[in-house]
Amino acid sequence: MAEPEVNLTKTYDAVIIGSGAAGGMAAHVLTSRGLQVLLLEAGKKLPIEQELRSMEWPYDNAHRGFLPPDSHSLSFNEYTIRNPPYGPGFEKSKHLHSYIGSSDYLKNIVVDERENPFTGTNYAWVRARCLGGKTNIWGRLALRLSDYDFKAKTRDGYGEDWPISYGDIAPYYDKVDLYLGITGVKENLPYLPDSIFQRPTKLNCAEVTLKQGIQKMGRVLTQYRAGVTSDGLKHNKYRSRCYGRGACERKGGCDIHAAFDSPTGLIYPAMDTGNLTLRTNSVAREITVDPQTGKASGVHFVDSQTMKDYKVHARVVIVAASTLESARLLLLSKSRLYPNGLANSSGHVGHNFCEHVMGPGVAGRAKNLVGKPPTLDDGRPGGFYLTRFRNLAEKHPKFIRGYGFEGGSGSAMFPRGTDTHGFGASFKEEVRKNQGAFIGMGAFGEVLSRYENYVELDPVVKDKWGIPSLRFHYKFGDNEHRMAEDMKETAQEMFEAAGFEIVHASSRVLTEGWSIHELGTARMGNDPKTSVLNQFEQSHDVKNLFVVDGSAFVNASCQNPTWTIMALCWRSCDYLAEELQKGNL
Ligand SMILES: Cc1cc2nc3c(=O)[nH]c(=O)nc-3n(C[C@H](O)[C@H](O)[C@H](O)COP(=O)(O)OP(=O)(O)OC[C@H]3O[C@@H](n4cnc5c(N)ncnc54)[C@H](O)[C@@H]3O)c2cc1C
Ligand code: SF4
Repeated sequence: MAEPEVNLTKTYDAVIIGSGAAGGMAAHVLTSRGLQVLLLEAGKKLPIEQELRSMEWPYDNAHRGFLPPDSHSLSFNEYTIRNPPYGPGFEKSKHLHSYIGSSDYLKNIVVDERENPFTGTNYAWVRARCLGGKTNIWGRLALRLSDYDFKAKTRDGYGEDWPISYGDIAPYYDKVDLYLGITGVKENLPYLPDSIFQRPTKLNCAEVTLKQGIQKMGRVLTQYRAGVTSDGLKHNKYRSRCYGRGACERKGGCDIHAAFDSPTGLIYPAMDTGNLTLRTNSVAREITVDPQTGKASGVHFVDSQTMKDYKVHARVVIVAASTLESARLLLLSKSRLYPNGLANSSGHVGHNFCEHVMGPGVAGRAKNLVGKPPTLDDGRPGGFYLTRFRNLAEKHPKFIRGYGFEGGSGSAMFPRGTDTHGFGASFKEEVRKNQGAFIGMGAFGEVLSRYENYVELDPVVKDKWGIPSLRFHYKFGDNEHRMAEDMKETAQEMFEAAGFEIVHASSRVLTEGWSIHELGTARMGNDPKTSVLNQFEQSHDVKNLFVVDGSAFVNASCQNPTWTIMALCWRSCDYLAEELQKGNL
């Protein structure tokens, strides 16, 4: 595909910063409406199929799929005992990655922590700096939010309601479903609305047993709602339908792009309109402002390879660098008119930072499956999702909000239960006998949005490009810890109800950030004193500035955010295009 050159003398209709789920969606919507758009991405355009090598067998990889010896990825214990920016103690490692970067296939996708340092409280911050960002390796669970989330304050009195209702965003969820494809099964749950699903995956034997076992408790287990096209998409030539190879489950990433990723799902089709210019290796360091009008005038960026500085001009600036990077960029964009950073008259940029707490879960064995012949269970893009059941009809005495579980069972290329005791032939026999009977699930719970959980610019530490780093002030609170205890208890109770033998149960909470669902650092709202954006993700302060990623979230809910990020972004960009046409921006 021919890529037009960036024209630094031109004023683009819009410049988008970041090419992940949010930036990709903005590019799709605006170019399809005829706008001339420039997309700046900090990372490289990787030959992604060669990186992911989804069909490579473990024995064909020099390190059986793990990192080369000179590279290291942080473990849970290292996050606990060492403080960011994770300098001393890792001298032997040429490259240092977050916990997710332990695989050879992700080493060029996730960032090197040393080049991208941050300080403050511990945080397992996973960043993917390349075209498409984290969507190249995301877990694909694609869930909708409901008015249980958008109007959570009305229900329990905590925090703020969103300035929108489910009815406002439902048509845009439908558009995302149809344009990108999603698999799942309709359940008619008011707190987890259905999507427009393509062909679903199948639950396996132990999963059906769990589903039936918890039905009498009024709880619901459904097929993994995966952002994967199982039937194919006639309108997209870059993506194949899912062939059930299970490779995405093995290490993340689908090299035939049945699983949604931003480049093939959104950016390449946007380039085909002839209206999109893409510049990779372009690290935005400041959003520039016209001192006369106070409006955003463009972006100041540095070429990540040559270190040269550039400026581009646009009528509208769209920030989509991911929740924390977007907050960083707004804070970096200080000027005489905006001394606290851009769009920050409320002082809320960087604050109300929230996400999901994870760690607690259970592993068990379906006794009737022990010793049974292996079955093909990992040939699908996900296992099951066990939906929220807390604080819906009843009020839990110890915590507010809720959690759901992601899980799976059955035979897999990398068998479960290899941590069993023993060695040699008897060990292998033990693993073979039990592997298909294992079932496990882990919880994802809402972390409350709190003003006192925030990020700011570090006054000293800078990244490889000389740009000030973020300093974290972020900790889980009592509500999260009480919820985590409950997660373990209910997980056990449900496995017992299904008749499983419990092998392991834990309420251990993983390091903050582990869920990779950071949200809320530039929240939307009706009141410019307590929010950064309006319901269309448009800055209250600067009318031609939009922030279209997870920053805009008012609360985290317990559902994974990516489908909502994209539905909100589509809605905001429709509004933006209309306002631009009317001359209001
Ligand atoms: C392993 C893994 C599993 C996940 N599983 C799920 C899941 O099951 N369900 C779900 O909903 N979500 C999941 N997520 C989260 C999901 O990937 C994110 O919600 C989504 O990618 C967010 O989109 P985004 O556009 O905000 O950010 P990103 O996808 O991170 O994209 C941001 C882009 O902006 C670029 N950028 C950053 N700073 C700058 C700058 N200064 N200048 C220019 N460009 C910049 C980055 O390089 C990046 O390409 C998962 C993530 C990971 C890593
Ligand atoms: S199971 Fe489907 S989505 Fe996953 S890697 Fe295979 S083809 Fe891609």
